[in-house]
Amino acid sequence: MRTRFLCLLLAGCLSFLTSQAQVHPDSLMPVRGFCIGSPKPDRIDEFVRFVETELAPRKVNTLIVRIDFNYQYKSHPELRDSVALSKRDLKKLVRACRKNGIRLIPQINLLGHQSWASKTTNLLRVYPQFDETPHVKMPEKYVWPNEDGLYCKSYCPLHPEVHKVVFELVDEICEVCETDAFHAGMDEVFYLGDDKCPRCSGRDKAELFAGEVRTIRDHLARDGRKLWIWGDRLIDGKETGIGMWEASMNNTHRAVDLIPKDVMICDWHYERPDQTPVHFAMKGLKVMTCPWRKPKNAVAQAQDMVRFRNTATKVMKDRFHGMIQTVWSDAGTFLDEFYGRKPAPADGNSPTACFKALYDEIGRLSGQPGAPAGQSGH
Ligand SMILES: [Zn+2]
Repeated sequence: MRTRFLCLLLAGCLSFLTSQAQVHPDSLMPVRGFCIGSPKPDRIDEFVRFVETELAPRKVNTLIVRIDFNYQYKSHPELRDSVALSKRDLKKLVRACRKNGIRLIPQINLLGHQSWASKTTNLLRVYPQFDETPHVKMPEKYVWPNEDGLYCKSYCPLHPEVHKVVFELVDEICEVCETDAFHAGMDEVFYLGDDKCPRCSGRDKAELFAGEVRTIRDHLARDGRKLWIWGDRLIDGKETGIGMWEASMNNTHRAVDLIPKDVMICDWHYERPDQTPVHFAMKGLKVMTCPWRKPKNAVAQAQDMVRFRNTATKVMKDRFHGMIQTVWSDAGTFLDEFYGRKPAPADGNSPTACFKALYDEIGRLSGQPGAPAGQSGH
């Protein structure tokens, strides 16, 4: 009798422990994201399959796709890439995401990232009058660092005609993606409030940055959409020692107190798992941590996110909003590595390895380890 009682007690304890260990992924962290450059048209089907067979089983619920000019815009055909996704292509992705409960968020880089290396990208190539620094000529061979401090060009946020053009792109891509959120990039904006800009010179850079965030946010809000941005311009790079890439050395960081509280912050840290989510949460902003290619950091960042949620005040808990794996190539390049057609780096640091490690860890933390095992196509 006594043995039977003990057995029952033990069984009861075990089932209690097991049920305690299982956490619903949404309460573990509301956003489990993946961010990547959009595929070229000839890779869209393969990418849709990847969404269905790799993202969905890992319970990814947010997919940020950097589209920029890789879409056949009807509002501005002059801004399309020469080879660009059609409406039919994008709708395949929209359907796959909807079927799998994934929120699709398109990205077009606004403000910064209007050039890359020695190439001006479509907006400033077609509308050079929007350039914040027209006096900075694009080099034939790009090197960093350089005398002009040229990383990427920016558009002038105070140019009276720039928003009409970019918002027509934003509205069109949001409509085709059937989405309630838009990612405007806004990372690494080094050219802002330039001394030679007739509109911006002498102005407070934090106010210029915050003003542009608010303009975009207010435009989206009219259609019930939310703005997502990268977080680096809102961190003081000097005071924190985080520096000029993952934080701001051009005095934009005070914008953290000036932007609307419903702007979603994607806080990327690729070199060290810096605990900046606390900074954003304490400012009243929802924040998601973004790793890239170091699996060890991604695992630490996922654990930090869960710890922040478990130890925060009730008011702040939900601001610790999740994790987003970021991939800085287009989808095709990533898929080649993911499916073993291109060798992964020997040191084990790569977006594919980081993605797997992050989602293994999220699975482990929610008490459902190994869910997608055997489905990775290896
Ligand atoms: Zn300007």
